[in-house]
Amino acid sequence: MEPISLVHASLGERELAAVAEVFASGWPSGQGPRGKALEAQLVQKYGVGDAVAVSSCGTALHLTMLALGVKKGDEVIVADYGFPAPAQAALYVGATPVFADVRPDTYTIDPQSVADLITPRTVGIVAVDTVGMPADYTELQAIADRHGLFLVEDAACAVGATYQGRQAGALAEVACLSFHGRKGASSGEGGALLARDPAIGKDARLRSSFGIGSIFDLGNIVGLPIPTLTEVGYNFKLSDIAAAILQVQLARIDELLERRAAIAAQYAELLAGEELLTLPTVPPDRTHAWQTYMVTLDAGVDRAAVATEVRRQGIGCAIGTFAAHVQPVFQAQQKCPVSADLFARQLSIPMHAELRPNQVERVVEALSSAVRTHASSTRALGGAA
Ligand SMILES: *Cc1c(COP(=O)(O)O)cnc(C)c1O
Repeated sequence: MEPISLVHASLGERELAAVAEVFASGWPSGQGPRGKALEAQLVQKYGVGDAVAVSSCGTALHLTMLALGVKKGDEVIVADYGFPAPAQAALYVGATPVFADVRPDTYTIDPQSVADLITPRTVGIVAVDTVGMPADYTELQAIADRHGLFLVEDAACAVGATYQGRQAGALAEVACLSFHGRKGASSGEGGALLARDPAIGKDARLRSSFGIGSIFDLGNIVGLPIPTLTEVGYNFKLSDIAAAILQVQLARIDELLERRAAIAAQYAELLAGEELLTLPTVPPDRTHAWQTYMVTLDAGVDRAAVATEVRRQGIGCAIGTFAAHVQPVFQAQQKCPVSADLFARQLSIPMHAELRPNQVERVVEALSSAVRTHASSTRALGGAA
């Protein structure tokens, strides 16, 4: 049987042609013509004040913490369920991540949990659009405004999603995107910081290039420019090779998203009758980018056994995503029971724009059969009765 992978980046001839152009231009490094063109494309698409192309969403979050002035002793409230990059970013600048539990239906940060965690040391909130589902920005913004906190959107997985008619990536004062190979638009590795306030973008762009600014621009100045370094900077630049790939990917995003949405709809239809699984649901005021399709197994189902059986048939599957507060690195003081439960019971199944309907059928057959085989005997008997 032909294997069915969990993840597959949709990179093709058009992306290759764009890369060939960069090779011919002689400027493959960052902050050159293609990087600038990508940033202009992002500003246009999202209607933000500035967009900074960087090496990953992780570095975008790090630059966000620096640009917002987060420092040692500060507390940053982060969504507990999702890839724990926001908590890592808080640690990079010496701050303390504080973990907020999530809603059981959308898996996104629970505004009530955020409100309960605010202390005099709280400086801001990082919401996560969990595997492509936008969080509750209306409620979160109201909390942020009431307490004078910043609100950041980790939209790593959410390119193409919407919330109350607005695009994910434009739902908070700063948003961070990822272009990792498992996300909806990809250059292999890559990211972007989108900011309403151009001053935030300027700060991030400067720190992303060792505090020097664009070397490409310096090369085009007549005379002898002598750069000065005024800040601790990093090399977090996105290469122009990656930027060229992303310009093509962003132009294709509607087509890629349509494929993912069709696959999600097929899963929902074929798995609807499976009592041992809970499927994702999307509230009417938002749309999902379907970065990952996660199912929740009934408490009596042996998840490891199900995953082993599905994988044995050449079908990719993995945990859903992370509960951050249980990761030893964070030494968390909070309890997040909803997130912990999802971390224990969710499974991600193949989701990418290249999946074909007959492959989705094979995944469904394998999964349904495995969950029934590995359900606890009481539940299995109940189901058969
Ligand atoms: C993937 C992901 C990241 C990290 O993105 P990179 O580009 O790999 O650094 C951050 N946050 C969330 C929620 C993610 O899913």
